[in-house]
Amino acid sequence: MTEGKQIPLLQALREYYNTHFSLDQYEQVVATQPYGNREFGFLLPGNVFIRNRSFHSKQILLEYFQVNVPLSAYAGAVYDQPLSPTLRIQNVQWMGHELVFDLDINEYDSVRVCGCKGREYCHQCWELIQEAAEVMDETLAEDFGYKERIWVFTGGRGLHCWVKDEKTFSYSPRQRDAVVSYMQMIHDPKGQQRVDSLPSAPKLLVSRIYSKTLISFLTRMDEKVIAKATEMSKQRVRRLVKEAKEYQEGTKLSKPLGNWLKKGEEERILKAAILYRYPRIDHKVSIDIRRVVRMPGTVHSSTGLISEIISNPTEFYPDDAMSVWEAIK
Ligand SMILES: [Zn+2]
Repeated sequence: MTEGKQIPLLQALREYYNTHFSLDQYEQVVATQPYGNREFGFLLPGNVFIRNRSFHSKQILLEYFQVNVPLSAYAGAVYDQPLSPTLRIQNVQWMGHELVFDLDINEYDSVRVCGCKGREYCHQCWELIQEAAEVMDETLAEDFGYKERIWVFTGGRGLHCWVKDEKTFSYSPRQRDAVVSYMQMIHDPKGQQRVDSLPSAPKLLVSRIYSKTLISFLTRMDEKVIAKATEMSKQRVRRLVKEAKEYQEGTKLSKPLGNWLKKGEEERILKAAILYRYPRIDHKVSIDIRRVVRMPGTVHSSTGLISEIISNPTEFYPDDAMSVWEAIK
């Protein structure tokens, strides 16, 4: 982030929305009807949150940004009529909403070994987000066949994935729930961090857990952490790690876990790998069909970073994002 002398956030936002902002990135993530009957929400200066707003045209929405200088801006679902303070989402017919997934670094707090908590992140723990995006993107493409998946840095502590495929636009909360549930392996009733049993997971997902999640758990984590999480001796963990690296490098081994493991150990290792490295998707964001979601191209006011579309989430780090102060320079 920009250090030193910088103009106050509100002044920077005013300049940004009046002279540098465009709706191009927002238009790229929505499947249909970017204006007209779509709902928008804003956090305005003074921390006033408003929603149930629609704009007839791009020009009117741009003017709204210029005049009101929102601290945060969100887009929601499309309805059969434009929304207004007197015609709210409860009073109109819902037509559709892109399928959206949310990954936040704070979801990993119980397994982050770097010491970061909440909104904090570092290169070590941000790898978890990069890996999660890789596993999710592959799952959405291969297991569900979704073609248009756009990844967005929110400007805060994580990523969104917008799926634009037409068939997903009208998905009910139940259908959205089914997609998330398919991918979800960690359930958290009262903070217990329960990992689902592997045999009941879909085959494609299981092979992905072996080839990606397990390998990164064994090759990227400290051996002490692995030993503790798997309840195995240091010597056995060393052998595991060595074989995982050989497997990762290529042809030497045909599978990442050897036959020398004791009964029950393989299951324990996989569950530990899932707990530490597997995607943790915020279920609520995906199933709420009336939710308003941060618009790419707008500023996240608690960091000053601009939410942006990223072409490769597996290589992206938040320092790559532009701040509002850099944008107006
Ligand atoms: Zn960290």
